[in-house]
Amino acid sequence: MNVVVVGGGVAGMTTAYRLMQGGHQVQLFEASPELGGLVRTFDVGGTRLEAYYHHIFSSDTTIIDLINELGFGDQLKWIESKVGWFDDGKIYNFTTPKDLAFFGPLPPLDRVRAGLMGLRLRRREDWAEFERITCKDWIEKNVSKRVFEKVWGPLLEGKYGDAYDQVAMAWLWSKVHLRFQSRRGVSQKEFLGYLMGSFQVYIHEMERRMRAGGVDIHLNAGVQQITATGKRADGVVLADGSRVDADAVVAALPSLLFKKIAPPLGEDYSSKLDHVKWQGAVCMVVTLDRSFSPIYWMNIGDRSMPFLALVEHTNFIGPENYDGNHILYISNYLPQDHEYFGLDEDQLWAIFEPALKRINPAFTSNWVRQKWLFKAPYAQPIIGLEYSKYRPDHRTPVEGLYLETMTQIYPEDRGQNYSIKMGDEVARMVVEDHAKRVSDARA
Ligand SMILES: Cc1cc2nc3c(=O)[nH]c(=O)nc-3n(C[C@H](O)[C@H](O)[C@H](O)COP(=O)(O)OP(=O)(O)OC[C@H]3O[C@@H](n4cnc5c(N)ncnc54)[C@H](O)[C@@H]3O)c2cc1C
Repeated sequence: MNVVVVGGGVAGMTTAYRLMQGGHQVQLFEASPELGGLVRTFDVGGTRLEAYYHHIFSSDTTIIDLINELGFGDQLKWIESKVGWFDDGKIYNFTTPKDLAFFGPLPPLDRVRAGLMGLRLRRREDWAEFERITCKDWIEKNVSKRVFEKVWGPLLEGKYGDAYDQVAMAWLWSKVHLRFQSRRGVSQKEFLGYLMGSFQVYIHEMERRMRAGGVDIHLNAGVQQITATGKRADGVVLADGSRVDADAVVAALPSLLFKKIAPPLGEDYSSKLDHVKWQGAVCMVVTLDRSFSPIYWMNIGDRSMPFLALVEHTNFIGPENYDGNHILYISNYLPQDHEYFGLDEDQLWAIFEPALKRINPAFTSNWVRQKWLFKAPYAQPIIGLEYSKYRPDHRTPVEGLYLETMTQIYPEDRGQNYSIKMGDEVARMVVEDHAKRVSDARA
């Protein structure tokens, strides 16, 4: 079988890799100059670093298996995380139940309620009811208005903007349920996974194996159109107008980009693609000559601040791995038309610098060695109520055309683990459908 895969993020790469292992002929087209998609990396002090902070949880078993399969299991380290919370001009520890017991922004009774909420969601297996209620309504009704106002509200608003009150409780259930599995022992400390040398290590190895196994990888090769004869996909057209024929096409792209290049998909499927809006991400990475705070992941509860979270990577993976540089991510999820998408590094720094001083008054720009700015218009789908009804299938209405996109990950939040899992599943479907077609043709 001759298969074209469009999109070289981890989902598309996994499908291409599995099809190659199955002995199929694969061509992979990626619009950007490198593979990896949102897991792209750059060099800091001689070591690769993700443009957008990445770690994994112990529940991410598919990526753990893949890393082991590719031979890097011993480079995958599980490290205690230090989560903090900035509000009312102070940094609070926010990792363990003990931290919650001393969490100043909530009165004592609400701290207990917030803790019980975590336990309740952790134990709960049946989440069907959570499809029909928003996080806001569920928390206000079952926990307390103040817990929503001081904790979950700011987090949801930071991630989903104006849509913060439309996000289904199913999203929060899966986040808490899965994240709790990364906690250990009586103190419930959290351990997060990181691949030493960056997640690019496994991505590069997959790329190396694909090239060695005969996958035709085309970089800087955006697909302009997926074509079909009648109701059957038959290839793609590239930016230079050239045509590539295929027995099957797998699109591993953000859903809305897929819709722009797909053949007619019919009203039902198209409306499912339109149903989900996306948030973009604007992420600045700065290297400092010293540490900014003792926290790895600092949630910003104060919504007057111009960012959602600060991630000090070197409080997770030490600065000795980056030639002594301390690495700070300044992160935001924003609507795709937000003004930050139009600002350059210096303009954004002028906004961020005074806010950083509010957190650490000793901070000055003199600590900064280098800055990088990364922007991704398709970073996080916004999943609303009763999404099982709207989730598009991997098999599209056009025969031989498959979609794997982050809006199909549900009820879990998107992440490398689920894109890889989807990549595996779609590769299996392509092979199954082909086998059926061949046997039908013989019959
Ligand atoms: C800020 C941020 C933090 C994150 N943190 C974590 C984390 O801690 N842990 C974790 O596991 N995950 C994290 N993620 C999520 C993770 O990066 C994604 O879930 C995963 O990388 C998605 O992979 P994908 O292949 O599905 O999509 P993408 O990575 O979006 O890949 C799609 C690819 O398609 C290409 N493309 C688009 N249009 C075309 C076209 N017409 N022709 C050819 N190619 C095209 C794109 O260039 C891209 O390479 C984070 C994401 C962000 C934005």
